[in-house]
Amino acid sequence: NYRCRSAFKLLEIDSKIKFLRPGLKVLDCGAAPGSWSQVAVKLVNSHGYDSKQPKGLVLSVDKLPIYPIDGAVVLSKCDFTQPDIQDRLVTILKDDKLDVVLSDMAPNATGMREMDHDLITQLAIAVIRFAVTYSKPGADCLIKIWDGRNRPQLEESITRFYSQVKILKPPSSRSHSAELFLLGRGFKGLKSSSSQ
Ligand code: SAM
Repeated sequence: NYRCRSAFKLLEIDSKIKFLRPGLKVLDCGAAPGSWSQVAVKLVNSHGYDSKQPKGLVLSVDKLPIYPIDGAVVLSKCDFTQPDIQDRLVTILKDDKLDVVLSDMAPNATGMREMDHDLITQLAIAVIRFAVTYSKPGADCLIKIWDGRNRPQLEESITRFYSQVKILKPPSSRSHSAELFLLGRGFKGLKSSSSQ
């Protein structure tokens, strides 16, 4: 039983690209009420129910309350864009890095399309920054946006750091006309000589 229908978007995307596997470490940004995290917990085996498979990690963060999710480490009522919250995420990871970064984060929509697009773009940029700093080479990221004028720039920054960028529109997301998912596959890793 999933906490909301958004679960199906992630299930549809994963059935297509198969990026969540047992043992992976996943960050889920904008996780409340928790259905993406529920999907991730199952697929990466972070609850350890399948003792024959490696155990993953799911880290869930939202500025709204998140009720406990079996198998996930939850940062409830935490704004992902705040440096102290990001520090807490890094502390939980210890010296390890992420295999997959998910963001279904969305700002409160104002109804003004351009402004909403700009607000969600800011969230996407924060996710990309964090992902490139705390991901393992080869990692993937999946970020929801509402389409608009900044999309080429977002695609370009993903292309800079990931081997492949794709735009996904899962069938269950059809009702939100502007909603798209940007997928970066195969994080290239940060070269020590480069500052960004
Ligand atoms: N993927 C979730 C699920 O399946 O249950 C649904 C996510 S919902 C569409 C978007 C979420 O993004 C909201 O819960 C909202 O509070 C969260 N959000 C927006 N801005 C945020 C921020 N700065 N930090 C953390 N969460 C944020």
